[in-house]
Amino acid sequence: MAHTKDYEVIIIGGSYAGLSAAMALGRSLRKTLVIDAGKACNRQTPHSHNFLTQDGSTPQEIATISRSQVAKYKTVTFYEGLVITATKLSEGFEVITGNGDVFYAKKLVIATGIRDLMPGIEGFAECWGISVVHCPYCHGYEIRGKKTAILANGDTAFHLASLVNNLSKKLTIITSEDCTFDELQFQKLNKNGIKIIEKEISTIEHDAGHLKYIRFKDGSREAFDAAYAAIPFEQNSIPVELGCQLTEFGYIEVDLMGKTSVKGVLACGDNSSMMRSVAIAVYSGNVAGAVVNHELTQEAV
Ligand code: FAD
Ligand code: MG
Repeated sequence: MAHTKDYEVIIIGGSYAGLSAAMALGRSLRKTLVIDAGKACNRQTPHSHNFLTQDGSTPQEIATISRSQVAKYKTVTFYEGLVITATKLSEGFEVITGNGDVFYAKKLVIATGIRDLMPGIEGFAECWGISVVHCPYCHGYEIRGKKTAILANGDTAFHLASLVNNLSKKLTIITSEDCTFDELQFQKLNKNGIKIIEKEISTIEHDAGHLKYIRFKDGSREAFDAAYAAIPFEQNSIPVELGCQLTEFGYIEVDLMGKTSVKGVLACGDNSSMMRSVAIAVYSGNVAGAVVNHELTQEAV
């Protein structure tokens, strides 16, 4: 049955990964719809780093130039809104948006990112991406040499500390509970002069997102310039409802081609990668776009 809202590919999520897939598909003349709710995970960060040609640009600048380059390809259409459900039909997929619009496509590319779950610490969310950061490669250079806290415990904290030790010698791990380092980790942290605080944090005191003090539940506080934090995330419900297999860490399981466990559904970007960066989102979107085009090509003959 032919539908007026028929596409070859629907891309759910039109940030770095989704737009990268859209560019490959537009250049292959594929009738593609990009549905995007406009909430990239890095939107609060003042400058994005470590992506060639755009080092230090704002997330908005990168999004705007990406979108304008993709928009030149006439077979790519954009839809602003939220996908509520995506269902596998006997052939292809049905996608329904929050406004009740219904679209069909032969293939789906899921580029929905992940949603960071803010801990219940006052001030944390306001500092996220500004002075409380997730990744040394994205922000470490800018906060090099600063008095830095690492908000994590155990292996995660040790891993972060070993990465950051090269960037600042003023490091304190705040575990917020009894620390869970093994003897060797403990010795190495000690040897490198990395302090450990086990007190629970109550508040991050800041000035417009710039960390000033970390206040503890016992009422004391300590001055810091920046912090790294490892926080949990939520996977998007759409791939889960489609039946895409997840990894033990909660990412969408994909092969090297970006194919999920559901035939005709590909995934790219943060939702399917432990390594989180604009470059990797763009790379994996580029792969997914090419692979989906290849699948369509094969099915046409
Ligand atoms: P996202 O950019 O998160 O985009 C997902 C898109 O999908 C959003 O627009 C969202 O609205 C949309 N979406 C989700 N669900 C739906 C739905 N149901 N319907 C429609 N649309 C939907 N990386 C760097 O390389 N350098 C940096 O400096 C850097 N800084 C960062 C700072 C912070 C605070 C964070 C959190 C991340 C940072 N990153 C940085 C990582 C980088 O932002 C991500 O790796 C990248 O944004 C992933 O791209 P993505 O397209 O997979 O997901
Ligand atoms: Mg983002």
